[in-house]
Amino acid sequence: MPRKVVIIGAGIAGLSAGCYAQMNGYDSEIFELHDIPGGLCTAWERKGYVIDGCIHYLFGSGEGQPFNQMWQELGAVQSREMIDHDELMRVIDGDGRTFVAYCDPDRLEAHLHELSPADAPLSSAFAAGVRQFQRFDMSVLQSKPRRIMTPADWAHFLGAVLPYTGAMARWGRLSAARFANRFHDPLLRAGWKLVFGWENIPLMVGMFLLAYLANRNAAFPAGGSLAFAGAIARRYEALGGKIHYKADVERILVEGNKAVGLRLYDDSIHMADAVISAADGRDTLFSMLGEEYLGPGLKRLYNGSLPLHSQVQVSWGVARDMSAEPHWATYLLEKPELIGGLERTALGVKHYAFDPSLAPEGKAVVEVMLESTYDYWQRIYGRRLYDTEQRQVCDQVTEHLERIYPGIRNQIEVSDVVTPLSYERYTGNWLGSTCGWLLTDRTMVKMIAGLPKKLRALQNFYMAGQWVEPGGSVPVVALSGRNAIQLLCHDDRQPFVATTA
Ligand SMILES: Cc1cc2nc3c(=O)[nH]c(=O)nc-3n(C[C@H](O)[C@H](O)[C@H](O)COP(=O)(O)OP(=O)(O)OC[C@H]3O[C@@H](n4cnc5c(N)ncnc54)[C@H](O)[C@@H]3O)c2cc1C
Repeated sequence: MPRKVVIIGAGIAGLSAGCYAQMNGYDSEIFELHDIPGGLCTAWERKGYVIDGCIHYLFGSGEGQPFNQMWQELGAVQSREMIDHDELMRVIDGDGRTFVAYCDPDRLEAHLHELSPADAPLSSAFAAGVRQFQRFDMSVLQSKPRRIMTPADWAHFLGAVLPYTGAMARWGRLSAARFANRFHDPLLRAGWKLVFGWENIPLMVGMFLLAYLANRNAAFPAGGSLAFAGAIARRYEALGGKIHYKADVERILVEGNKAVGLRLYDDSIHMADAVISAADGRDTLFSMLGEEYLGPGLKRLYNGSLPLHSQVQVSWGVARDMSAEPHWATYLLEKPELIGGLERTALGVKHYAFDPSLAPEGKAVVEVMLESTYDYWQRIYGRRLYDTEQRQVCDQVTEHLERIYPGIRNQIEVSDVVTPLSYERYTGNWLGSTCGWLLTDRTMVKMIAGLPKKLRALQNFYMAGQWVEPGGSVPVVALSGRNAIQLLCHDDRQPFVATTA
């Protein structure tokens, strides 16, 4: 009889673990609290507009490039159009001066030299870093769990990584903000803090991103995030796996020192030979396992040693052709403005007109993301103020949108606001985190090392997903699900196999 594996969560990590479990002869079932697959990799429909809640860039979108083989195995990319961009984002100041973060390092370097000749050496060093990382296969960092690597695996790993250790040491511990502060030009000083999402992101991560965008290996998957996740769910079911939706796991069952199954909130019991949690890390360790298996390291970690990241997403469906507009532009505000509890100095406006399947013809979804804190929204949740605050944030941002695109206010057909509480409610992620532990110049080393996927005192139990791979991201958590099955196969003394859909 095949060994039974139960998996908590049908996010990308859980779906991936499920697919590889089936490929390796296990009989697996996934228990998911929501009624759709994907977890954070999701989208929702409002009046004919598909509001995407996740992927801006997918590493592995380019055939034959790093991470692509895994997506082929997961059935996620076959016959899916990939939409590449020539620029990541542009930053525009009050006078209309524009810094374009071109993906192509040559074009970027030339543009930066033209914008600010005084900053040419810094700009050239950055472009050289991007060129160097264009040759780096990032997936080797996680292609096999370190614990089970053979001497041949280590040789391959070191051969792939060693040529880049100098560049990693140089750029991995430098934040975008500290890099930005070295520039003379005020637009570039402001711009470098904005283009990669958050200002204490290691610059190396931004370089990787541009390098993969330049290689045409970080595209937007046409159809959006939910369609992408749906393809992996279908692959899992085609491999014989079963997903139970609206199945909220309360407890991981333990006998002796072994995980033996799950109990759901409806009191149903599901016994298994192995348990994989691809759900929220804190919920798994503190609640489903009742804090019993936490060493001091994990306790410290969850007691606040690493930062989290959540946000507010304001989206509109607009009856306006946006296709000639830059797909992502951040506008520097003339004076700081308090929006959603935090002072803002810039506002990034994104649209999805590049994928016509996401809106009725000639219309588009437009979106603004604002960094936010869970506490701010939690304090007012359940009170009338919560809805009022959501509306106020939406109104404030709409004011800016109207200044940028005159007339757009009257073209808005639908508005939608997501807060950190929405992320928490729909995916169970602690404090509404959108990527687990936030990746910063100080957490970089932990990212490369990863966090424990097994607990010393508990056998037959594995963890996968963004809470064991700081920084998260769709390809990294998919690899994490794959790694969990590699560990399981290793523990069961059987070879790991992967097949292509
Ligand atoms: C706005 C946004 C933009 C992003 N942009 C990108 C991007 O451009 N590129 C990129 O690569 N990544 C991006 N990410 C990050 C990426 O989406 C996540 O890191 C990744 O999807 C996390 O996957 P996961 O499977 O680890 O976790 P999750 O997606 O959180 O999945 C966990 C699943 O477990 C379920 N669950 C939780 N508790 C229980 C329970 N008790 N019982 C049953 N089920 C449970 C949840 O419902 C969920 O489905 C973005 C994320 C967000 C929110």
